[in-house]
Amino acid sequence: MYTTIIGLEIHAQLQTSTKAFCGCRADVFELEPNTAICPVCTGQPGALPVLNQQVVDFAIMAGLAMNCSLRERSVFDRKNYFYPDLPKGYQITQYFYPIAEEGHLRLETGESSKTVRIRRIHIEEDAGKMVHQGTDSITGSSGSYLDLNRCGVPLIEIVTEPDLSTPYEARVFMELLRDTLRAIGVCSGDMEKGALRCDANISLKDEKTGKSSNRVEIKNINSFKFVEKALESEQLRIADHLNRGENVSKETRSWDFATKETYSMRSKEEENDYRYFPEPDLPVLLVKGERIAYLRENLPELPWEKIARFKEQYGLPTYDAGVLASDSAIASYFEIAAEITGKPKDCSNWIMGDIMRLMNERNLTIGELGLAPEYLKELFSMIDSGRISKKIARDILPEVIDRKLSPAAIVKEHGFEQINDDNAIEKAIRQAMEENPHAVKQFREGKEGVLGYFVGAVMKATRGKANPGRANEIARRLLEG
Ligand code: ADP
Ligand code: ZN
Ligand code: MG
Repeated sequence: MYTTIIGLEIHAQLQTSTKAFCGCRADVFELEPNTAICPVCTGQPGALPVLNQQVVDFAIMAGLAMNCSLRERSVFDRKNYFYPDLPKGYQITQYFYPIAEEGHLRLETGESSKTVRIRRIHIEEDAGKMVHQGTDSITGSSGSYLDLNRCGVPLIEIVTEPDLSTPYEARVFMELLRDTLRAIGVCSGDMEKGALRCDANISLKDEKTGKSSNRVEIKNINSFKFVEKALESEQLRIADHLNRGENVSKETRSWDFATKETYSMRSKEEENDYRYFPEPDLPVLLVKGERIAYLRENLPELPWEKIARFKEQYGLPTYDAGVLASDSAIASYFEIAAEITGKPKDCSNWIMGDIMRLMNERNLTIGELGLAPEYLKELFSMIDSGRISKKIARDILPEVIDRKLSPAAIVKEHGFEQINDDNAIEKAIRQAMEENPHAVKQFREGKEGVLGYFVGAVMKATRGKANPGRANEIARRLLEG
């Protein structure tokens, strides 16, 4: 039996308007290459960095959200390495004295619940990007382009302790982290766009012998699904080695989307290869206690706080509260709709059901879908008063959205009013009885289930407009004869 040990190193791009140490714009995703650069972020001789205050605030907010202790005195360091996408030849980071340390997040996976310790959060800058011709790596490429837009884009690196024990937990943790960073507005959380990136460390321990495998680090994971998949694949590979009495090498591997396997990139570099030393061009970073207190007081509502409030204030089950709270736009829509309709649980059901399905199908946000909560209110009251069936309400929802027309108007236009008229229902049942005397006989011999057939026949004859409760009652009365 092996236990799995996983720790994550996560880079989150901060949503500041300008870069970490210069005035270039920071939202460079999909910009024309090399259009958001200056002497500072391209490392021209003599250009000096100036720290962006927003970066510090965002890092502190992330630290507070993750229950870290904040350092009032932290220091920037140089991490030295050579690569064409790093024109300065070093990255500015915080190695010895990171701004935040020793925090934790509470992780609920639905299967388990545990505390994941955060070892540190530090500020650093991103490097540029290379585009290789003909291949996706520099080796074997006939030529490479260099886009320095991303140089100097502010990041925080969040390092967890190795407290995760399954690939699934790692994925849920990444989702929790995304929700947390989004809730406080410091990072978009889009893994697909590289705004949130994760390196996953994994090792296996043999419970019988107490011996552990070497640790492997997986890079290049760019989606929540792949966090889980890459770790699952690596878990199997390590177990396979251990089963044969071998160990895996301590190395850095990359996840290959195509083969769904990891492959070796390089043996792991040692920290002292980077020759870290304090950045001489930046002063020590001093943050006043009052600033930290101010940010703590003004920290937006965190995902778990919102979940607790939704349960308490609206009486929602944990599951509903979790789904609704995980997207801030959906959460505010829910709150507005609950207020307007006075029916929070119905709102939750509709949002988690048809509304989110339509959002997915059309690839729209809740705002873009544009369903006025007043129309939900109208739908609910038409259902409650028996004017339309729930089925009709669901059927007309896309039309309400597309035509931006009130549900009442659509119901009227199509003549979708529920048939509560017993005569009409009776007529439909009598006809079905005539058409299928065999079913009548079956019912009378005690086969209760046949009742559904008659109710179905009524629904079909009335195109779903009959009141199902009435249809049920009347069918039973007529069949029992
Ligand atoms: P390194 O200095 O080699 O980068 P660190 O101690 O800084 O290693 O840890 C880097 C990451 O590896 C952290 O996220 C940590 O949780 C994780 N980690 C540490 N030990 C293990 C282990 N035995 N198995 C899996 N992950 C681990
Ligand atoms: Zn710049
Ligand atoms: Mg490390």
